[in-house]
Amino acid sequence: MVVDGPWRRTAEGAGLVDEDGHVSSTIFAEMSALALRTGAVNLGQGFPDEDGPEAVLAEAVAAIERGENQYPPGPGTLDLRTAISEHQRRFYGLQPDPQGEVLVTAGATEALAATLLALVEHGDEVVTFEPFYDAYGGLIALAGGRHRTVKLRAPDFQPDPDELRAVVTDRTRIILVNTPHNPTGTVLDRGTLDLVAELAERHDAIIVTDEVYEHLTFDVRHVPIATLPGAAGRTLTISSGGKTFSTTGWKIGWLSGPRELVTAVSTVKQYLSYVNGAPFQPAMATGLRLPDAAFTAIADGLRGKRDLLSAGLSAAGFDTFRPDGTYFIVADAARLGFDDAAAFCRALPELAGVVAVPLSAFCLDRHDPDYASLVRFAFCKRIEVLERAVDGLARLRS
Ligand SMILES: *Cc1c(COP(=O)(O)O)cnc(C)c1O
Repeated sequence: MVVDGPWRRTAEGAGLVDEDGHVSSTIFAEMSALALRTGAVNLGQGFPDEDGPEAVLAEAVAAIERGENQYPPGPGTLDLRTAISEHQRRFYGLQPDPQGEVLVTAGATEALAATLLALVEHGDEVVTFEPFYDAYGGLIALAGGRHRTVKLRAPDFQPDPDELRAVVTDRTRIILVNTPHNPTGTVLDRGTLDLVAELAERHDAIIVTDEVYEHLTFDVRHVPIATLPGAAGRTLTISSGGKTFSTTGWKIGWLSGPRELVTAVSTVKQYLSYVNGAPFQPAMATGLRLPDAAFTAIADGLRGKRDLLSAGLSAAGFDTFRPDGTYFIVADAARLGFDDAAAFCRALPELAGVVAVPLSAFCLDRHDPDYASLVRFAFCKRIEVLERAVDGLARLRS
């Protein structure tokens, strides 16, 4: 799909509006308010309702008590940058230099924002898959870029290689990849990653890869695109500790890649947050240095939750698309008689005591027929909360 983008600056430059002139992202606010008002189980937003590893939390408390409460260094503490480099080496064999090839940011979101603002010139094209994490649309618009998308369609949500070839051109400045993928839960297959690397080289584009769910995969291995032959020299890899360690409120993210690109992003980053999260930086370093078994345990716990919600959705009559990673599962409400996922989600608290979001919230065109009846549910919740949701969803059958 090729669209100039429904996102644009308002005449006053005050914000971003969608194609109907509404201020964007209303669906998330609306659904969270609905959950609050109705007491429904909120499977709309992707944040865990349980704390992550004790050692990580304890280190943040200890850092505050040690007095690490003032501005940290601009690129992040050297210890955290070293821990990020060690992590990239341990899991993927990559070896970014903590001095100049690693940058700590205010979450993956700031890494994305600073990257796009640094590297996109007015009118440059940025290619993403669609549906896409909602911040991408807004950030590409803020950077003055033109948003081009390649669709991921049910049931497997892998792109059609020919569509990808058609969208990436010499006008493409950045191919922004997200794997494991929010909102579909897909882990992009090796063929797709190879093709992205090949097209980026052919058209001299930069690859930016959002890997915040890198440790949250089930039975498949996450392959960073920077590990593909020839890709590292043009790839910025972005991640964050929020999803892995259930600390989404801490907003400690990072990126790594070639020195010139990291320098360009750092230049912009210093005028955004400048720095953030001093006591959380040592805590993240602790997290990244946890033994392999701790990472496996996190993914195993989440796999059980996926299976629980997936079975519940199928039993309730949805067609479900089992994700290989992330916090999310997509289900099709059509077989239950609902063709409009947005209307379905507005009715769901009443019908089943559950809140979810329509996939159209992650699309350029809110009325795209490819996603009309698809709904995203988050399963990063306590077992008893998911069981309550499954009980409620069972009412849809009757
Ligand atoms: C949650 C999320 C982010 C944001 O990460 P933060 O570290 O909270 O800024 C970025 N990309 C994707 C795909 C996400 O799901």
